[in-house]
Amino acid sequence: MSENPAELKKNYETVLNNIREAALSAGRDPASVRLIAVSKTKPVSMMRELYALGQREFGENHVQEILEKREEFPEAVYHMIGHLQRNKVRQVVGKAVMIHSVDSIRLAEEISKESVKRGLLSPVLLEINVGNEESKYGFRFDEAEEAVRAFSLLPGISLRGFMCVAPYVADPEENRPLFHKMCDLAVDIRTKNIDNIHIDELSMGMTNDYRVAVQEGATIVRVGTALFGSRG
Ligand SMILES: *Cc1c(COP(=O)(O)O)cnc(C)c1O
Repeated sequence: MSENPAELKKNYETVLNNIREAALSAGRDPASVRLIAVSKTKPVSMMRELYALGQREFGENHVQEILEKREEFPEAVYHMIGHLQRNKVRQVVGKAVMIHSVDSIRLAEEISKESVKRGLLSPVLLEINVGNEESKYGFRFDEAEEAVRAFSLLPGISLRGFMCVAPYVADPEENRPLFHKMCDLAVDIRTKNIDNIHIDELSMGMTNDYRVAVQEGATIVRVGTALFGSRG
């Protein structure tokens, strides 16, 4: 994959434009959708090019990569989007602006414990295994409310919404009903007025399906390949 700055710029403009058009087509304000540039495995040099074009938020799926890139490129804002092991929580709390991939109550408890210890309030998302896939992490839809209630009791974490990694499908339209269900879940949980949670984020949509996700209510899309090219 090339590291051609002109190509990165063109990709960036295309993705921002697609987000804007998808939002407008669904009667949404384009400003209500944020792009996280998924820079896993990509060099800091490419991240700096995107930063120069205005991108501030980057997504990584390994703690180690966040720590290394933060050393080299502290200006960027890092989101933890990959499966997180409990023994890595200590390293990432306070380093990632948001942890998207909280897929168990035990993990939430660990983030809570570490955050309290350091006097931090860590924003987190609860991951839903939207396609009920064996290979994916997260809660099932029918487990979500109970998990939300458990999260709401934990000090040091602030549950801000839901995240999902939708199935890889040939036609992104196949994921539309799943994204729609995520949006319904957020609406449903909001009506329950559970203390200590603020469900305003839906982190969903990747290169293959971010336009559909935006039409269905994503507030955060996580796009890697469409910006930086394939990961080899
Ligand atoms: C890699 C990754 C992405 C980005 O995927 P692309 O298809 O390259 O856009 C988004 N979310 C998560 C959790 C990922 O691991």
